[in-house]
Amino acid sequence: MNIGQEVLKLLKEEITEIEYNRYIKHLTYDIEHSTSDLAIFYAPNALVSNWIKSKYREKIAHLFEIKTNMNVTIHITLQNNTNQPTKPSAKNSNIEKKTQHSMLNPSHTFDNFMVGGSNQFAYSAVKSVSEKAGILYNPLFIYGGVGLGKTHLMQAAGNVLQNQGKNVIYTTVEQFLNDFIRHIRNKTMEHFQEKYRKCDVLLIDDVQFLSNKEGIQEEFFHTFEALKGAGKQIILTADKHPKKIGGLEERLQSRFEHGLVADIQPPELETKIAIIEKKCEINKIKLPKEIATYIATVIDTNVREIEGILTKLNAYSQLMHVDIDLAFTKNVLKDQTESNKTDLTLDSITQSVSKDLNIKPSEIRSKGRSKNLVYARRIAIYLCRELTPNTMPQLAKYFGMKDHTAISHTLKKITELMRDDEDFKLKISELTNKITTN
Ligand code: ADP
Ligand code: MG
Repeated sequence: MNIGQEVLKLLKEEITEIEYNRYIKHLTYDIEHSTSDLAIFYAPNALVSNWIKSKYREKIAHLFEIKTNMNVTIHITLQNNTNQPTKPSAKNSNIEKKTQHSMLNPSHTFDNFMVGGSNQFAYSAVKSVSEKAGILYNPLFIYGGVGLGKTHLMQAAGNVLQNQGKNVIYTTVEQFLNDFIRHIRNKTMEHFQEKYRKCDVLLIDDVQFLSNKEGIQEEFFHTFEALKGAGKQIILTADKHPKKIGGLEERLQSRFEHGLVADIQPPELETKIAIIEKKCEINKIKLPKEIATYIATVIDTNVREIEGILTKLNAYSQLMHVDIDLAFTKNVLKDQTESNKTDLTLDSITQSVSKDLNIKPSEIRSKGRSKNLVYARRIAIYLCRELTPNTMPQLAKYFGMKDHTAISHTLKKITELMRDDEDFKLKISELTNKITTN
């Protein structure tokens, strides 16, 4: 086993099996061209390569350091067709070295970020900060669920500022903590402090992991104060609002809220479609609109899953020399959708409609005549008819309607609407996919 393989084996123990199989497994180490301070790995495509660069490069470098006691630059590059890897030129590897510890993914740009109602506020805030670093909102705190684009946005600002020559450090709290521990162990704390306190822009990702870790909170607080005092921009992200993080020193929590706190919500269907189309454009994947729409309806909220799906689709279509069509997509995504399938009942469908439209199940099943209620009830009835074996009289009973003619009337109405209103049709297919895949 060569050193590259040994390092990947160590990494395997630190990450989940899914992550390993999806990304790391596909790396090959170039033993011939690597040197004692430069490790070259090949990735099969841009998605895998970008992902590894943004998520694992520092970890890989660290593992090399542990194994070899050398500071190793990690170069992840695309496998070229001839399988004859070209060694990065000295110039390139210098660039890598220089930017290495800022760890920004170059494709995380504002241009590549699709804006919709769900992320408009966070987007505008980050964009403004990238134009007026250190002056406007400091710190800027972005919070929201997994895979909604927090890291992408914060790095977009980082890329802009770095291109202006600013010294940008991007780090997750986890890496910050590892770095801290490593420097304590090596008795090189001055280096640590200098590194973080001398930068112009500090991007700290996933600060919820500071929770209940007093030692690092203390260190982080001083870093924060030093940077803030010097008018340096700080951007933070977390999966929740600072108030909700818990296990956080009071003074840190109040610092976090001191600038601007902006949230990111799950993307609307149109934004999801736009994101998929953007990812395809970046990765040169040909995907018909119909498929983009289908994927958008199957993926609930986590945008990150989209990349995995596109990689998979692209790989299969290339391997099998077929175009990506709907039947093919459904087939490839079968595992994704089938493993999630649960038994559908009138209750569960009504629940899903209730959640999606924000109307209580009891109201959906009531005799209320307000527009919203009627709308939700019709949809619920239609989906129940489509997705369960219940008869019309059974449905009438469940939804408190007079008899089966009322149900049949509703179904007719929905069919008409779907024929005449493209958006409504989309809404129904979105709900159907959500219900059948959750
Ligand atoms: P988070 O940090 O919130 O967990 P990320 O920023 O890592 O999420 O985003 C996950 C993936 O989804 C990334 O590949 C990112 O580029 C992509 N993504 C998320 N939101 C958008 C968006 N609005 N436009 C384009 N890509 C997006
Ligand atoms: Mg993130």
